[in-house]
Amino acid sequence: MKEGSLEAPTRHPIDWKSETFYDEKACVDEMERIFDICHGCRRCVSLCGSFPTLFDLIDEGESGELDSVDAADYWKVVDQCYLCDVCYLTKCPYVPPHPWNLDFPHTMLRAKAIQFKKGTKTKTRDTLLSNTSANGKLASIPVVTEAVNFATTNKVARSVGEKMLGVHKSAWLPKFAKKPFEKSAEISEELQVVDGKLTRGKVAIYSTCYINWNEPGIGHDLIEILKINKIPHIVVEKQGCCGMPKLELGDLDSVEKLKNENIPKMAQLAKDGYVIVSPIPSCTLMFKQELPLLFPDDSDVQIVGKAMMDPFEYFRARMRDDLFKTDFNSEPGNVSYHVSCHLRVQNVGQKTREVLEKIPGSSLNTVERCSGHAGTWGVKKEFHETALKIGRPVFRQMNKHPNSETGVPDVIASDCQLAAHHIKQGIGSEEGSNVKHPLSILADAYRTK
Ligand code: SF4
Ligand code: SF4
Repeated sequence: MKEGSLEAPTRHPIDWKSETFYDEKACVDEMERIFDICHGCRRCVSLCGSFPTLFDLIDEGESGELDSVDAADYWKVVDQCYLCDVCYLTKCPYVPPHPWNLDFPHTMLRAKAIQFKKGTKTKTRDTLLSNTSANGKLASIPVVTEAVNFATTNKVARSVGEKMLGVHKSAWLPKFAKKPFEKSAEISEELQVVDGKLTRGKVAIYSTCYINWNEPGIGHDLIEILKINKIPHIVVEKQGCCGMPKLELGDLDSVEKLKNENIPKMAQLAKDGYVIVSPIPSCTLMFKQELPLLFPDDSDVQIVGKAMMDPFEYFRARMRDDLFKTDFNSEPGNVSYHVSCHLRVQNVGQKTREVLEKIPGSSLNTVERCSGHAGTWGVKKEFHETALKIGRPVFRQMNKHPNSETGVPDVIASDCQLAAHHIKQGIGSEEGSNVKHPLSILADAYRTK
């Protein structure tokens, strides 16, 4: 048996419609097999809360081996996993094609799916938090917007929210916009479509729930960049959530419903020659990798997966095609830039960094490590402190910009805007750095200050 595989990881489709998928005993047996291999390896100890939880259980047991850990405690390991995929795609030498065929995240997903079917104490809170599209629609009703936005920063309301909903009272929460992106996005001018060798010449924007309901300005900046580069665009109409928050809960039936809502129109756009970009890496990843593995026989899902790109992956390829403007007018200052996990595992390299470094006078302090936010996981009462603990090394590195006398950067940026806000909270300063999405940094660089 080879010690580790040097070949690129491959991934098997998730057989979630089979009868055995929800067989609890079979799932616990698979966890046992995997946990024993991890015990002998321990490479992932610093990645998240799952591995330290597992190794503590083993080390505190009578024999110091997995056999003295009660299988009922395996679920503690499951609870700490937020499905970032980093262990699978960046660390583990035993993933397929290695014969040990180890897939830690998808085994956690299977366990979460079993847990979700059985029902958990926090199911109501988790379901509510993961209804991002419905929450956005409700919160965009003007009087509701004001009330919700007031509640996100009001101490009394946050304490009540913690008791009743289990949302940690100190976790940063986004505000809701008065006008959603889909109602305010600028319509594209009639422009000639110029395909490049590497890139399609027209863009469909899957705007994501977060950009639509919380920070539409990032979407407007994306449109501005496309406009400057004479790339025609449209916004995917009546889009639903990508399904990532439901996937993280193991609610696979809801993932399928959302897939059925989104995929037909997105597949049509892909067939019509659009590249589809999404400004939030988790949503991009969902369409690029997770849905194709959950629905391997759905050809439209595969077509959308192939047409989907991270915006900076697209811009970088457009630069290689010599079809992207690099005459900038403003400098971004000292930027501490965080590469989020869901971007790392797309295996596209650091395209955001490469593009931002083309801006004259840019000074980037790049940090590639988990911030601990992990979607809705980091705002939950029982996980928020762990989320801050996991993020601590990132907070430290982000606040040590080599070009800044004090170390404090002018800008905190992450492709995942939620992670950027979490990092700002973790650094703990109300003043100093501004949180700015890389798309806004790029759009600002074209503007004259
Ligand atoms: S997928 Fe991410 S959170 Fe889950 S065990 Fe792996 S590294 Fe930890
Ligand atoms: S997931 Fe792989 S690399 Fe990580 S501890 Fe387990 S066996 Fe080792």
